[in-house]
Amino acid sequence: MVKKIKLAVIGSPISHSRSPEIHQEFADQAGIDIEFSKVELSKSNLDDWVHSFFLDGGKGLSVTLPFKEDCLSLADEISDRAEITKAINVLFNSKGKILGDCTDGVGLVKDLTINKNQSIKEKSILVIGAGGASRGILPSLLEEAPKSVVVANRTVEKAERIAKEFSSKASQTSKSSNLIASSLSFEALKDFEFDVVINATSVSTNPSQNLNLDESVFRNTSLALDLYYSQAFTPFMDLADRAKVPTVIDGWGMLVEQAAESFLLWTGFKPDTAELIAKHGE
Ligand code: NAP
Repeated sequence: MVKKIKLAVIGSPISHSRSPEIHQEFADQAGIDIEFSKVELSKSNLDDWVHSFFLDGGKGLSVTLPFKEDCLSLADEISDRAEITKAINVLFNSKGKILGDCTDGVGLVKDLTINKNQSIKEKSILVIGAGGASRGILPSLLEEAPKSVVVANRTVEKAERIAKEFSSKASQTSKSSNLIASSLSFEALKDFEFDVVINATSVSTNPSQNLNLDESVFRNTSLALDLYYSQAFTPFMDLADRAKVPTVIDGWGMLVEQAAESFLLWTGFKPDTAELIAKHGE
């Protein structure tokens, strides 16, 4: 009998995760048998649980908030792109070693540029948030040669650190040599205009939290994206919609695209994403 491929998504909170159904759809396309679980962990049991999972024959893990940075130290080896992002959203067993990679950035850029037909070349981009998701998407955004990328965060020092780190990386690549990633406090945002505003904070995961963003941040914005995915508009998306931003989207397309890249790493099969992305909300 062919054994099922053992996969899981880990995070906290995790109940909202739609990864199991996405990967089941990919497995059906591939004709592969998988067992996919959702596992809520805490920082204190993360290390033990991940090592036991792989020792027990697990093939791959999808990693979501808040563990993307913590999982770096759990991998035996990490990919070049995870080395740059310093965040991991996928772990997998390759010949007995735990490898870590980051597919968030490529997932986001594929969704924006191919599925949504939105170029970010020469655009001024604001990324709000400086956690794992922000780290995961910044190098891929910079690769698209935008005019500028600004990072703003509640804890300004974290935005400063990330902006400094990615500016120096941007200047090392010929494609993005004219780019500056800089950081701003939320208060300072009112003095700037952005073509693209991305919410990479975790506020949308909790209805009792609020970003306290002023609507004026969207005054010249043509695209607003909340990396969170939900069937209804999030407060961030509502605010952008009220400010008459022409295109307001959530992270569903990115989620499906990053998952497809992860599924490829786990199984060698590249899934078709179009139908699943079109089924958003169902
Ligand atoms: P994380 O590492 O825990 O980072 C959380 C970020 O949110 C930090 O910058 C934090 O600021 C900020 N934040 C939290 N509460 C806040 C509040 N009340 N006000 C202002 N800022 C607040 O989380 P993550 O992994 O980066 O995930 C962030 C979001 O991206 C989540 O919604 C996640 O679902 C989404 N995501 C989606 C995809 C996709 O495929 N669509 C992929 C990855 C992530 P401080 O530094 O000040 O704490």
